[in-house]
Amino acid sequence: MTEKKSEGQKLEEKLLMRPKNLGETDGSLLDKAMEFCEEYKRFLCGKTEREVLDHAVPILKKKGYKEFQIGKKYAPGNKFYMNNRDKALIMVTVGKRPVADGLRIGVSHTDSPRLDLKPNPLFEDTDMAYLKTHYYGGIKKYQWAAVPLSLHGVVSLISGKTVKVVIGEDENDPVFCVTDLLPHLAMNQMKKTAAEVIEGEQLNILVGCWPFKDEKVSSKVKLNIMNILFKKYGITEKDFLTAELCAVPAFKPIDVGLDRSMVGAYGQDDSACAFAGFMAELDCKDPEFTTVTIFADKEETGSDGNTGMRSFFFRDFLEDFVSAYGLQARHVLKRSVCLSCDVNAAVDPAFGDVFERNNCSFLNRGPVVSKYTGSRGKYSTNDASAETMGFLRRILDEAEVPWQVGELGKVDIGGGGTIAADISVHNLDTVDIGVPVLSMHSPFEITSKTDVYLLYRAVLAFYSSKLEKE
Ligand code: MN
Ligand code: MN
Repeated sequence: MTEKKSEGQKLEEKLLMRPKNLGETDGSLLDKAMEFCEEYKRFLCGKTEREVLDHAVPILKKKGYKEFQIGKKYAPGNKFYMNNRDKALIMVTVGKRPVADGLRIGVSHTDSPRLDLKPNPLFEDTDMAYLKTHYYGGIKKYQWAAVPLSLHGVVSLISGKTVKVVIGEDENDPVFCVTDLLPHLAMNQMKKTAAEVIEGEQLNILVGCWPFKDEKVSSKVKLNIMNILFKKYGITEKDFLTAELCAVPAFKPIDVGLDRSMVGAYGQDDSACAFAGFMAELDCKDPEFTTVTIFADKEETGSDGNTGMRSFFFRDFLEDFVSAYGLQARHVLKRSVCLSCDVNAAVDPAFGDVFERNNCSFLNRGPVVSKYTGSRGKYSTNDASAETMGFLRRILDEAEVPWQVGELGKVDIGGGGTIAADISVHNLDTVDIGVPVLSMHSPFEITSKTDVYLLYRAVLAFYSSKLEKE
């Protein structure tokens, strides 16, 4: 027997928002999300911007994407990509409408906080060999001690050849680590602030303790390590100077929770969004408007450098692409819309006091749309207009993709920016959207599978929509 709704209940339904865990409204959602995230976990095995491209480019080729050709006038349905230095990527599907009518752009980043090796990293101390690091991006340094690390990157040899290095990902590989102090002797350490518990110059990666047997040599352990690297990769100590190597957590992406509703992995900021955007790009067959999906590098250090979103590579590419139609990039950009896809902070009850619960995002409520990011008085942000927010809202609601809004946290607590501010400078209507994350920027970040899946559905709806910008 169903009870009749009261006047107030009816009004409440009509007038008020009642956000819910989506499992309460659609129980089948988790099954679809589970299936979707099996491929997501494979995507997460690419732990650096280069490795994400190593994974993505062969898939693009298999799906019929061709390398971008300057001067070519592409026809509707054509798919192509532009690889910027193996670190940033632009993928395009040409729409049915003329390019002059604007683009539907989705941008995410594929770099994540990590420990980069210093140019001259290898040293020996107390009969142990270490690699010195310089951290990349915003980390809590203490989180990187006493966890297994793997080494990733490339070395440019004097011959001009580039060698790829991955050690610690195969189950037969060794791993590495930064050591921490035992609690028994940590009386003074424990009195320090968290920022000083492990300091930058203590982030040294232990790589060996066995000496090269030769009385006449001074740094025997170091020599032994260098000898192993030389035998395997042909690297000498000087080659470190022309290398890009980093240490990242060696954990494999894995299901979290007895209900297996979450993914735990390194690098979900921002591979959660990169994967969702990538799958939407692949699955959008005949879009109305031309879709442009971008993987950017260097977001975690401010988007500077020629593979970051402050570089001209995106603008230059656009000029090359649209000039084939006799168009100027600036005219196309003005008519385009961009989703800046980046993760957000999910409300964590363990740290409940930093969140303002009416305006922060929660696990399992779908992708989180942020009108603005930044810090303090809305500094360093793209503040999306009501019209741009409305444009996205109409698309998501029509496609029945659940979504939520979210600021990072309470106003005075801190803050953080995204690529939105850097890409909107092109006179481009931009709005932030992403996946809520627990333990963001830690070695083991947590997302809800449902949110990752629904971000894919959101970007796909945006790419597939025929809705015209006002
Ligand atoms: Mn991010
Ligand atoms: Mn980040």
